[in-house]
Amino acid sequence: MIIVMRSDASPEEIQSVEEKIKSLGYTPHAIVGVERKVIGAIGDERGKDQLQTLESFPGVEEVIPILKPYKLASREVKHDDSVIDVNGVEVGAGHFALIAGPCSVESMDQTRTAAKLVKKAGANMLRGGAFKPRTSPYCFQGLEEEGLKILAEAKKDTGLPIVTEVMNPREVDLVARYADVMQVGARNVQNFSLLRELGKIKKPILLKRGMMTTIKEFLMSAEYILSEGNKEVILCERGIRTFETATRNTLDISCIPVLKKETHLPIVIDPSHATGHWDMVESMSRASVAAGADGLMIEVHPDPKNAFSDGPQSLKPEKFAKLVENLRPFLQLMGKTL
Ligand code: PEP
Ligand code: MN
Repeated sequence: MIIVMRSDASPEEIQSVEEKIKSLGYTPHAIVGVERKVIGAIGDERGKDQLQTLESFPGVEEVIPILKPYKLASREVKHDDSVIDVNGVEVGAGHFALIAGPCSVESMDQTRTAAKLVKKAGANMLRGGAFKPRTSPYCFQGLEEEGLKILAEAKKDTGLPIVTEVMNPREVDLVARYADVMQVGARNVQNFSLLRELGKIKKPILLKRGMMTTIKEFLMSAEYILSEGNKEVILCERGIRTFETATRNTLDISCIPVLKKETHLPIVIDPSHATGHWDMVESMSRASVAAGADGLMIEVHPDPKNAFSDGPQSLKPEKFAKLVENLRPFLQLMGKTL
């Protein structure tokens, strides 16, 4: 249920509504919007009729059921776009995230070189995996904590916030010590125990859509994080699996307008994993911006031919720099600031 407070409701009136919500076994979530003062009462669907009694409480304007299965992620609950603050880099509502870097952290030199060059080209966050979810157990699995330390050095050099993947609930604390944004990979989008753990920390989460995940399921996964109290969720579309084999995945560009309608959370597109080919990344980046994306995540490697993972889809730094220059007029047209 959404409890809409009158604009002149006093702090005491808000508090008594929150206490009543708790006494009924629900959790109150304050929704900070520009237009309205709203409290979401989230919990077991079965007893929700009891919440209707809040209508007679002083300061309450109305009590409205939330029709969508995702509650806190829904635009019904929060009308304005969320802006996620990543150590001073804002994402959403016109603030564009340009996340770039190698697929995997391979060495100090590779990561620091990539970081300096993507920063110079205009990226405002650095990506790089230290824990790698590989299809084969015989492929490079990532440098783990050593990789996180390398990312910390690259951050010292460039000031770029770090986006890096966490694969396991047991590693949340370790990754959180180094990451500015905790990435949940496509394969873990429905790892509900991981999502719950990430809901308990105070750090932005980049939640990637699974290759077999519907938009509704994707938003339900975001809801797991939000319902635990972490409101800092950035969604990321990275291509879904279809019958087409010319590209690694199929970029579901139409998820952008769907998500814009359904949710206030920002949406970033990863054209690298979506296409699997470096020479398709630029056109899909433009398409993503034109469709209203709030950011891009692009794989860039100083030497793609010798990359430990995803070389064929990785751009050389100079190609990435050109892509950013060519993207600027599109960003301007769409009213996005980078
Ligand atoms: C990644 O971004 O490094 C990655 C593994 O992507 P995905 O989870 O989308 O396959
Ligand atoms: Mn990759």
